[in-house]
Amino acid sequence: MSKGITPWEFELEQVDYVRIVEEFGLQPMTSELLKRMKNKHRLFERKVIFAHRDFGLILDAQDKGQEFVVLTGMMPSGKFHFGHKLIAELMAWYQEQGIMLYIPISDIEADVIRGIDADSCREIVVNEYILNYLALGVDLVSKDKCCLYSQWRNDLVRNLSFKAASKVTFSQMHAVYGFSNSDNMGKIFFPLIDAADILHPQLPERGGVKPVLVPVGIDQDPHLRVSRDIAPRLGMIKPSSIYTKMMSSLQGRGTKMSSSKPETAIFLTDTIEVVKQKLKDAFTGGRETIQEQKRLGGQPEKCVIYEFLLFHFEDELLESTYEKCTSGALLCGECKAVVSKRIVKFLEEIQRKREEAKSLLPKIYENQLI
Ligand code: SF4
Repeated sequence: MSKGITPWEFELEQVDYVRIVEEFGLQPMTSELLKRMKNKHRLFERKVIFAHRDFGLILDAQDKGQEFVVLTGMMPSGKFHFGHKLIAELMAWYQEQGIMLYIPISDIEADVIRGIDADSCREIVVNEYILNYLALGVDLVSKDKCCLYSQWRNDLVRNLSFKAASKVTFSQMHAVYGFSNSDNMGKIFFPLIDAADILHPQLPERGGVKPVLVPVGIDQDPHLRVSRDIAPRLGMIKPSSIYTKMMSSLQGRGTKMSSSKPETAIFLTDTIEVVKQKLKDAFTGGRETIQEQKRLGGQPEKCVIYEFLLFHFEDELLESTYEKCTSGALLCGECKAVVSKRIVKFLEEIQRKREEAKSLLPKIYENQLI
């Protein structure tokens, strides 16, 4: 296990993606692979998706018109921020292209590892995840487009987790997760539930063996590694994965946004006043003085505000900001005001869509998915 990165903690002071690719044994997202894509989400174009495992299998399936599915989990541990938005948008994008989605709600993990009780878990799932996924365009209601489920309620997944357990040894799990002697057995067994989530779209009850694509942050890679080890032992195809870069904390590049630390992130449920204040306080790549900024230009590669544009907003604004920033024509205060306006516009729209989406909740309850 790479120091400082597990599904439960991520403490790198400086994120070095080249090193991560090497250390984790990932494959970089090359321009050859990107060329094979008929249409690309901006996260591919802008290299926010920086690495993969066997993404070629997904492109092969697409080329041959064969079925594949996309899966990502909802971890109800806190507030939904702009980092979560990236994955939700990718899910919506694949779904628009007719790809079936699988979305497990990690309520076993929330309970067993994070100690979140059932009522709090349900409240977070609905208010932070389901409503935001719906507002971002993911159809969670149509059963032929999306399988949203609770881990606690999914017998297929729980049964598969025991089969998966029989295919892996404790020492293999220890090598991946680095358990300590004080870890309870729930924490030690839980990764097999996660592996079962990833593998279960290949069960006969789900239509049989097929490629599965899992878009994730790098901190979730251990689950992929275990699932990929187990898959062939169950007669399944190794799942593929793509990795998005971590969004930085508002306090500076190299530290991660956290759903439990309001000062680090903008939440999609924040009020507009709070968002404006958070952006005012955000770290930039500005110089020490106005004179220096005008003479040397700003440093977008160090700037959290610029990262928001890079990860989330349209080409035109991204390009003009880069040009004006690096040429010294733009000062950070002015830039923050423009970006703040753009983020507020987006959030007002999302918050309106969240309200509209509440009418879909009874249908989701009726499906007994949550
Ligand atoms: S001008 Fe904008 S992009 Fe450039 S460093 Fe300042 S806030 Fe960042």
